[in-house]
Amino acid sequence: MNTSEKLIATEQRLGAHNYKPLDVVLTRGEGVYVWDTDGNRYLDCLSAYSAVNQGHCHPKILAAMVEQAGRLTLTSRAFRNDQLAYLYEELAALTGSHKILPMNSGAEAVETAIKAVRKWGYEVKGVPEGKAEIIVCADNFHGRTLSIISFSTDPDARSGFGPYTSGFRIIPFGDAEAFAAAINANTVAALIEPIQGEAGVIIPPAGYFTRIRELCTANNVILILDEIQTGLGRTGKLLAEEHEGIEADVTLIGKALSGGFYPVSAVLSNSEVLGVLKPGQHGSTFGGNPLACAVARAALKVLTEEGMIENAAVMGDYFLEGLRSIRSNIVRDVRGRGLMMAIELEPEAGGARQYCHALKERGLLAKDTHDHTIRLAPPLVISREQVDWAVSQIEKTIS
Ligand SMILES: *Cc1c(COP(=O)(O)O)cnc(C)c1O
Repeated sequence: MNTSEKLIATEQRLGAHNYKPLDVVLTRGEGVYVWDTDGNRYLDCLSAYSAVNQGHCHPKILAAMVEQAGRLTLTSRAFRNDQLAYLYEELAALTGSHKILPMNSGAEAVETAIKAVRKWGYEVKGVPEGKAEIIVCADNFHGRTLSIISFSTDPDARSGFGPYTSGFRIIPFGDAEAFAAAINANTVAALIEPIQGEAGVIIPPAGYFTRIRELCTANNVILILDEIQTGLGRTGKLLAEEHEGIEADVTLIGKALSGGFYPVSAVLSNSEVLGVLKPGQHGSTFGGNPLACAVARAALKVLTEEGMIENAAVMGDYFLEGLRSIRSNIVRDVRGRGLMMAIELEPEAGGARQYCHALKERGLLAKDTHDHTIRLAPPLVISREQVDWAVSQIEKTIS
């Protein structure tokens, strides 16, 4: 057995089997590329589910992390640190938000938002205690905690984990009239992904979010957009909400907030919603720690200073054009916005996973989602030549 076979066998023997990874053991990354233990190079078209938008091991984020790790890593929020205020300031300037709550994983940001809007519902909106409802969409993905999977419609994510958290109303994604019909006096918030990533890069009809925004405003409902995957440049804008010219009341970011170096997430909001959380009512030992803040500051800085968001818009259009030019009788649909793209295959093609395996053999890493869809989301630093190469490998694999 070579190194990778040994490592895979050990993982199989000792690890819980809650993932089914492609059998490629990676040991190094730089920009859009990663290398396996046998020295093979791959173009990464998953970017750790959009956590490495800035490219693997970005030198400036690395430098910020190393510098901060040698100075101060964790104080807990029992004391203050000299990085958090700067992160607040820079995030507020970038996104226009007035209040920020830092957490670690994306799921924690979602949980935090749920807690805050429920409390807001009782204390500000006047919803009777215990009656708050949050509208969510079918086929959502917001994370893996018990409350979050309680409103999942994916049997794999939900089944067998009850009893579930109540207080969620599920409606179809992209259907504004269903949304209007679901609102009642106890509705405190709506929690929606601008584009459903895990569901297969599902883009709602034009005008959907404009209408959702109107309905939320008219009914005093907090609009929470989960931009953990769509945010921070992935779709060619800083936040995907900008494509419809709307503003959420609460925006959740994570993943690329650290450029893949460290788990950092945040709830961005106006003063009224996060204002309901008082000392002792919510927190996290690692949330807002100086290492996380220093890494996030550098990750945001390179994202904007190095033109990655603009590059995502230009390269996304170019990549999509390339994918659409592929002649293949197994492709049902090609869709995307910015560098968040998907190729949906005909069911007769026999599933996307075998094509992801074939792409791996050609040096391109991509992830199948929901049986028939190949998701493509390379780091935002990808070049035209690298897109050309990726399209040609995909063409050879599916045509
Ligand atoms: C990844 C993701 C999450 C969960 O983030 P974790 O860091 O894995 O907890 C939540 N929402 C969306 C849209 C995501 O893509």
